[in-house]
Amino acid sequence: MAGWQDRFPGVAEADWRDWRWQLRHALRGADDLARLFRLTDRERRGLASTAGLFRVGVTPYYASLIDPDHPSCPVRMQAVPAPEEAEAAPGDRRDPLGEDRHRPVRALVHKYPDRALLLATDTCPVYCRHCTRRRITGGAVAGRPFDRAAVEEAIGYVRAHPELRDVLVSGGDPLVLSDERLGWLLGELRAIPHVQILRLATRAPVVLPMRVDEALARLLRAVKPLYVVTHFNHPKECTPDARAACELLVDHGVPVENQTVLLRRVNSSARTIADLNHRLLSWRVRPYYLHQGDLAEGTGHLRTPLGTGVAILEALRGHTSGLAVPHLAVDLPDGGGKITLQPDYRAAPPPGTVPEGPGQWFRGFRGTRHFVPEPPDDDVSCPYDAVFYPG
Ligand code: SF4
Repeated sequence: MAGWQDRFPGVAEADWRDWRWQLRHALRGADDLARLFRLTDRERRGLASTAGLFRVGVTPYYASLIDPDHPSCPVRMQAVPAPEEAEAAPGDRRDPLGEDRHRPVRALVHKYPDRALLLATDTCPVYCRHCTRRRITGGAVAGRPFDRAAVEEAIGYVRAHPELRDVLVSGGDPLVLSDERLGWLLGELRAIPHVQILRLATRAPVVLPMRVDEALARLLRAVKPLYVVTHFNHPKECTPDARAACELLVDHGVPVENQTVLLRRVNSSARTIADLNHRLLSWRVRPYYLHQGDLAEGTGHLRTPLGTGVAILEALRGHTSGLAVPHLAVDLPDGGGKITLQPDYRAAPPPGTVPEGPGQWFRGFRGTRHFVPEPPDDDVSCPYDAVFYPG
């Protein structure tokens, strides 16, 4: 496949490596995309029918990964809208996770007891066609972007709520912010004594890896403990540039976790997920969640049946290391919170088996049946807790 120099002739290497150049030159619609590859009729219909519903934006870097000859290219399917995106599937919701009812201030969601989601911006380097927060990233939030006043208000909320132990900075993608703005925001949060952990959700290593440089890595290390949560969905996204971005963070002591969204015909196979996770692990990026697609409006065509994720997990468990097996998460609609699914390994006793006492039969990953006896004593209290946690 052609490299970026062939796809973007005349662009200087220094410009290509400049993340701000990448943002300034993002492809914004049919005309831009058609200069790079021949759009199918379906893609043209998708672009026309979703105009004004949800932004289109693709960094030249991410666009350079698109296979010009295959509309089913996983990068292309994540970047170019399908006509179905303009339709609501049964059950679709504008606010699929019920976040807006837990937004005490404009730029913060406080849904779980001890953690909050801070919306640092409503913009992204690439607008993913499966975005859950498209009501925010799609354009204007009640006509107002997340300006400094909104973010200051959110920081004030965190300061006033000592139960908030963990703050996830997201958006949009916070790595569209300058180092100066990001440093200010993270510094303010780090200075709040009850905030133990910061997390930063970003797709920059995937779609804008040049954003991750020494200065950013040092900035993130300075506010430790901070975890970067990124979002690789397919091995095709695992480029040398993406690897360099992830490894730079890890080398600076910034842990990187990955959340994959399960997407129909994009990555909905065990082979793809296993390959992706193995590549990420070799970069020291931990596969953390495999997400069932949320019920976000216009994403129904990308969602998989619930059983798909379970079948993928079953194909991984036992066949690869546990580190490569993510949690399969379903974020319940309307604010129910995340739950996890997994295959049911409980099994009936083999015919003719005489009960060996209390316990449970299971099937192993090879399909064999095994009995796990229960201990004779079911007292599991920890007497030392009273010493270690006085009062
Ligand atoms: S980077 Fe995240 S917030 Fe932005 S469009 Fe993609 S999924 Fe949505």
